[in-house]
Amino acid sequence: MKANLIEKTPSAHPHQMLIKSLIQTPLTRNTKNEIVYKGEKRFTYDEMYKRVCKLANALTEMGIKHGDTVAVMDYDSNRYLELYFAVPMIGAVLHTVNIRLSPEQIVYTIEHAEDDAVFIHSDFLPLFDKIKGKITCVNKYIALSEDGIAADTSLTLEGEYEEILSKQPDSFDFPDFDENTRATTFYTTGTTGLPKGVYFSHKQLVLHTIAVAGYFSSVPHCGFDQTDVYMPMTPMFHVHAWGFPYVATYTGVKQVYPGKYIPEVMLGLVIKEKVTFSHCVPTIIHMLLKAPIIDQLDLSKWKVVIGGAAMPKSMCVGAMKHGIDIIAGYGMSETCPVLTLAHVSEDMLKESHEAQADLRVLTGKPMGMVELRIVNDKMEDVPADGESTGEIVVRAPWLTQGYFKDNKNSEELWRGGYLHTGDVAVMLPNGDVKITDRAKDVIKIGGEWVSSLELEDIFSRHNSVAEVAVVSSKDDKWGERPLALIVLKEGEEVTEKELHSHAISYIKKGIMARESLLVKVKFVDEIDKTSVGKIDKKLLRQKYAL
Ligand code: AMP
Repeated sequence: MKANLIEKTPSAHPHQMLIKSLIQTPLTRNTKNEIVYKGEKRFTYDEMYKRVCKLANALTEMGIKHGDTVAVMDYDSNRYLELYFAVPMIGAVLHTVNIRLSPEQIVYTIEHAEDDAVFIHSDFLPLFDKIKGKITCVNKYIALSEDGIAADTSLTLEGEYEEILSKQPDSFDFPDFDENTRATTFYTTGTTGLPKGVYFSHKQLVLHTIAVAGYFSSVPHCGFDQTDVYMPMTPMFHVHAWGFPYVATYTGVKQVYPGKYIPEVMLGLVIKEKVTFSHCVPTIIHMLLKAPIIDQLDLSKWKVVIGGAAMPKSMCVGAMKHGIDIIAGYGMSETCPVLTLAHVSEDMLKESHEAQADLRVLTGKPMGMVELRIVNDKMEDVPADGESTGEIVVRAPWLTQGYFKDNKNSEELWRGGYLHTGDVAVMLPNGDVKITDRAKDVIKIGGEWVSSLELEDIFSRHNSVAEVAVVSSKDDKWGERPLALIVLKEGEEVTEKELHSHAISYIKKGIMARESLLVKVKFVDEIDKTSVGKIDKKLLRQKYAL
């Protein structure tokens, strides 16, 4: 075989795919669109870039260097967007901390990620006052506040974000380095055991951004271009808000950041700022549909991509009645995240809302460069007949290459050379993917994962409990809620309410995400098992959880 690697002219620039190229591109072609925070603060792209430079100068002055890790605990804000760029652009790693985790899990993720600095919204300073004694790696704390004044705290602060930025020059010569450098990290609780760190390189984020921008603008009725106004409704700590702040910046669209998620504020921003494109989990749509103000609003220009959980058809119809253009997508923390998107065709738009909803909530077709297979236990493709189920396994340029510092689970994730999603699905003859079940033992409550095994452990500590199985049950508001099915020891007398209080008292100790407080309890005579004696969660879900 002849070697035919390209020749490199010694003087040719060895271009690396770095995050800086995502922000430097739109600047040159679009200076009119703004980055808006809560409708109160506005920045042009030019101003935003200058703030990114100031932030890079501030980080460097604090001693943050290539390879260090910088954590953020904030609501969705322009500051967060600036950190999305400045931190990786100086070669450091951005750790987006899940603000909904329990205090113990937050400490665990900060220590595991080996964070050197943390940017903290003033709302979370009281939490840090409590947990700072358990944090050993961080030596720089920076406050983020709404009014530029640092709140009271026992932490030794480097200062407040705006005050720090105001002292810095507004240009920075961002270095070139290897495109395989780690740019971001965050933790998923979507598997059993401790939270697991996923990580993405500059090259992966750039490729994901370009692919999403291309795919979304090519799918009919899902266009995302410079006439759009973007507002995230998936938190920025979660999979880089599905990658869209990078896509929006790269394409130069107007961006609106809503701060803390408050339904009336978000809906108000949609109208006032003329938002046309958002994304969220179904629970957020549920919250918005319940807000009384919604009946007075015209939402007919608003496309909302739904993912993170299956959207109930009735919720889709409810949103469509308000004019919202719903399009489902599918992905996961480990996959950066976008894998598939539903396609809404011209013909479909002539159908009733009910008929459209069937297709809009389907998880749709894989995006370009995503090799998605549905396989049986032997890694053989199941027929694309809409009936044969199997696990979704994937390959794509932007999938996490493992779990941080966790070889065993990384190998398990990537067994056979494909990333295993733990999602069970069928493939329709036209290539649409339809998720039908989940092989992993976790429950998703309003976008946050809760481990059924950990809840089972809590219930089994009660003296009267002989056996317990926790499964997900359907819930209008949260999508899913944990349901604990309990067999009592013979002769034991305890009420469902007492057992519930037992579990709540454990959960309140801060060991699990607060969503697990939504657990329900039901006594049963026996717990169904599979032929090999494992708890048959699929059957239990069918029997009890509808
Ligand atoms: P996360 O890592 O928290 O983003 O969760 C990813 C998981 O959410 C996937 O593995 C699926 O189990 C679930 N999920 C994401 N999108 C969908 C969807 N459109 N329909 C059903 N489940 C979904």
